[in-house]
This record gives sequence, C-alpha cells and structure tokens, in this order.
Amino acid sequence: MIAKAPRGTVDLLGSEAEAWLRIQQVAIDVFSRYGYRLVKTPIFEQQQVFVRGIGQDTDVVGKEMFHVLSKNAFEKVSAGGELKSDQKLSLRPEGTAGTIRCAIEHNLIPQGGPTVKLMYAGPMFRCERPQKGRLREFNQIGIECLGAADPSTDAEIIIMLLKFYEELGLPLESTRLLLNSMGDDACRPAYRETIKQYILDHSDELCEECNHRAHTNPLRAFDCKNPECAKVMDGAPKISDALCDDCRDHYAKVKAYLDGAGVEYIEDSRLVRGLDYYTRTVFELQVIDGLGSQNAIGGGGRYDKLMEVMGGPSTPGIGFALGFERTLLALEAAGIGFELGSDTDVYIACIDDDCKACGFKIMQSLRDAKIRADMDHQGRSLKSQFKQAGKMAASYVVVVGPDELAAGEVTVRCMDTHEEERCAIDEVAELVASRMR
Ligand code: AMP
Repeated sequence: MIAKAPRGTVDLLGSEAEAWLRIQQVAIDVFSRYGYRLVKTPIFEQQQVFVRGIGQDTDVVGKEMFHVLSKNAFEKVSAGGELKSDQKLSLRPEGTAGTIRCAIEHNLIPQGGPTVKLMYAGPMFRCERPQKGRLREFNQIGIECLGAADPSTDAEIIIMLLKFYEELGLPLESTRLLLNSMGDDACRPAYRETIKQYILDHSDELCEECNHRAHTNPLRAFDCKNPECAKVMDGAPKISDALCDDCRDHYAKVKAYLDGAGVEYIEDSRLVRGLDYYTRTVFELQVIDGLGSQNAIGGGGRYDKLMEVMGGPSTPGIGFALGFERTLLALEAAGIGFELGSDTDVYIACIDDDCKACGFKIMQSLRDAKIRADMDHQGRSLKSQFKQAGKMAASYVVVVGPDELAAGEVTVRCMDTHEEERCAIDEVAELVASRMR
C-alpha cells in the first residue's frame, strides 16, 4: 500500500512552501516594527491548557481536538485505565492558550511594567470536516499583547493586521473588517441568559445543535451555518444594546481610534467568535469573494480574564491569528502568485570523470562565497548536464574540461547572453560574484 497524507492535511510543495516562508517573513517584519518578539511553544500541551483556556463547551475543545497518547498511555487507556491529568495531551488547536501558559510559566507577565508582545507561527490541528479553506492541520501566525486594557491597543493590533496584509500585497478593498464587543463579566452573563431564553422560545425554528447550544454556549448559535437558524438569530436581541457602561465606553473608544486612522469596519453584533475566552473587542477579517463559506482569513479579540482562568495573575490581553492557507487562497483569488525562484545560480558541468574532483572543489568555493551552486552526481553526459542547468534555471555554467584544466583554468558561460570567458580555477567565485552583482 502506498501511504497518502492524512485526510485534511496537505503537503506544501515548491512555491507554496516558499510562500509560507515569505508570509512568515512579512509578518515578522511588520509585527517586530510594533515591538513583537517570537516565541515557540510546543505543538502539544496538556489537555487542561485548552480545556481551561478555550472552554470545554466550545466546538474546538468539545469536538475538534486531536489527542496525543504515548505508548504507555495508550496501553493504559486500552486496558480501561484512567490517565493522570499530565498524561492527557492534545495537539494545539490554536496558539493563544499555549502562549499564555508559556507566559505564566516563565513569569513574562508585566507587573506594572511595559506590555509583553509575543508572536508565533506554526501548525494548528482541528478535527473538522475538511473542505476548501478548512483543514485538519493548518498554519497560523498570531500575536498576543499582554498587560494593556486600553482601547488604543485594540485599534493598534487591528491596524497592524491590516498593515500585514497591505505589505503582503493583498488589496484591502477585497476584504471587509467585522467588529463587535462581546461585553465582559459585568454584562455578558445577563446577555447569555437573554439569548438562551430566545433560543428556547424559538426552539422549533432552530436546529438541534442550536437547541443544544442554549444549555452549553448560547452565543455560538449566532455562528450556526444553517440559513434558517441564521434568519432566526438575526431577530435576537443584540449585544450592542446589552453592554454595560464600561464596555460601551471601551468599544466607542476602539471605534474612535479606528476612525481616526481611517480604518473602515462593519459593526456586526452577530460576530461572537468560537472561543470562550473573548471579552469586549472581537474582530474578523474576511475576504469578500472567492473563498466560499471559509472566508475569514484572520481574527481575534480581547481576553482580559484568560490569564487568571489559566492560573496566572489578573492581566488584560488581546491577540489575533491569521491563517496561512486561507491567506494564500485570498492572494490567489486576487490574482497574486508567488513565483518559485531558480534552483541554483551556478551549475558546474564536467566533461569527464577526471574533471569532477576539480569541479567539486569549485562548487564548494562558490557555496563558501554564498553563491548557490550545484553539479551532477548521477554520471550524466555533458549534454544532459547542460539540460539540467537549464531546468534548474542556473545563471552561469562553469565548464571543467581537460584542456582548460591543463592550463589551470575553466570556462564560465553566462546562460542569458551565451558569452563565455576563461578564468583561473581559484578565481571562479570572485568572477561569478562580480558578474552577479
Ligand atoms: P480562529 O482561531 O478560529 O480564530 O482562526 C484564525 C484563523 O485561522 C482563521 O481566520 C483562518 O484563517 C484560520 N483557520 C482556522 N481554522 C482553520 C482550518 N480548519 N483550516 C484552515 N485555516 C483555519
């Protein structure tokens, strides 16, 4: 049997693999200008990090987690045993919970100090039904800003997300920014109850899942993809009418900062986002056309209670994550591609086997001079070595032949102009470097 990549996963090849590097690089360039530093946390964490951080009743934790079992744990579970909590491990479905766990564990939390700004990039795992733009393994780039409750932070990170997409080349006219406030501990519990009651009052018009959500996570009913449910939920009381004075004031200031920066947004009181930890500001960047139902390329929000819930000191926080694969689809939909560059700069072609030792040395000298160089290792004829150089889109071919060798020289051929020049063996790197400049 020939194995295939698991369902919902993709191999990134060629230009897509390079696009991942390029997109990370643009993100790091932009985000570091705003003071963000990279962190790299494990791909799996103790399950409780996600259960406590994201919430047991969310789809992500309740239905979509991949669990990780060591051999011993597997045998224990297979024999009907119970695992200790530190043996229960899961692949990370998102980056925030693990980053907050890391910030608490390493005491990164500012106590009256400046904000701590962290960014990360890497794979996330959710066992969802795969479709276009929805994978089981996908890559995210995200940021977390810890220690600032001020609405200027909310506006700043939204502006930074837009700046990233602008520098990546995605036309912002092809996107829309949705904005909402989800309230806080003072006003959300009452609103949850209102929505629970609304769902119960409309139970016969709503799907089974939404009816279930009334008892677990009523606000998630706003996210239901069933068009009938969406219609019913459109008539539900709006969170914007239920915010307490502090949340209303905070939200108004976020909008004022965005207005001042000329950022356009659409207020969407149905935007609740899937994770329990959000308080106050939430936002989502969507692509208007071409991505179907999975049109959110990035999103995030404020989570002022999360640090405490996870056992750290009470610290406000806010962050976002953007999805690499959907960003790539959005760029494609906008007609923006990533060109795969050439495979090498210089190809060393050797006329016979005796010339190979010298060719091999020249190749190393080029690489030492930071020039990409390659040669044949499969015994090809000279003709097919030239063909190979063409396939690899080499700019120069260095021909090593017995006559030239006898004179201590080689021939350097420019593949564009077909011009050739002789050059001393130990001066090849210098010559090619000067021509490439
Ligand atoms: P979330 O953590 O759900 O807010 O997701 C943040 C971003 O990650 C989304 O806007 C998507 O771009 C991306 N994303 C989330 N889930 C998936 C998935 N299953 N497949 C591909 N990308 C995803």
